Amino acid sequence: MLSVSNLEVVYNDVILVLRGVSLEVREGSIVALLGANGAGKTTLLRAMTGLLDVHDGKVTKGQVTLNGQNVTSWDAPKIVAAGLGQVLEGRRVFSEFTVEENLRVGGHTRSGGLAEPIEQVYELFPVLKERRRRTAGYLSGGEQQMLAIGRALIAQPQVLLLDEPSLGLAPKIVQQIKEIVVEINQRGTTVLLVEQNATMALSIAQHGFVMEHGKIVMDKPAAELLEDDDIRDFYLGRG
Ligand code: ATP
Repeated sequence: MLSVSNLEVVYNDVILVLRGVSLEVREGSIVALLGANGAGKTTLLRAMTGLLDVHDGKVTKGQVTLNGQNVTSWDAPKIVAAGLGQVLEGRRVFSEFTVEENLRVGGHTRSGGLAEPIEQVYELFPVLKERRRRTAGYLSGGEQQMLAIGRALIAQPQVLLLDEPSLGLAPKIVQQIKEIVVEINQRGTTVLLVEQNATMALSIAQHGFVMEHGKIVMDKPAAELLEDDDIRDFYLGRG
């Protein structure tokens, strides 16, 4: 349903950051994308979501396909409207807005009403309902991550891209986020999960890709990656 083939991306017309990346995210699955800092994971997500130009990046080769449509040159709102939602790294919520106002912002590309999607988000995250009139900047890190995920869900995406949702969170909160990602998937959303926390990602994913220096170097079932010695040495120690 979401696939990338032979993608090359440059920044500022010179720096080649993705060097022919191909991957596929099957409908209904959770897919993990692993890789060290600077491997190109965020760049790949930007390319998938129409956000490269904001960072002076450009696709120079290859394409991104969503439900059979070539979306490579689409802008971000059009891609969201086509069913691809994303939660950026660093859980950027609007800190001076309330929780509910943040959720409403997530619905700006939707044509229908927001009451039902907002209610669904509150069902998934009861804590957001409790805090719905509170200013987002006063939420804890974990609650802000939940809000960032909730905001992306308002658009009711078919595929949700999550960029390092566990970053900087305490183990107990990481566990909660993990359970929520599984729940979101069980409710019918396909998930591409970018993580440094490989243990967390591979424990819920069916398939995993590993990126290094702008290339995919491993493409395997998650269970096999969990057993792989190189992966264990490199990532699992940090999990
Ligand atoms: P992280 O986990 O730190 O986010 P990453 O795997 O997501 O790492 P990217 O952020 O995609 O990696 O970065 C890949 C490479 O592209 C890095 O060498 C980075 O310095 C470079 N890069 C990222 N954004 C830009 C930009 N706007 N202009 C120039 N180079 C960039």
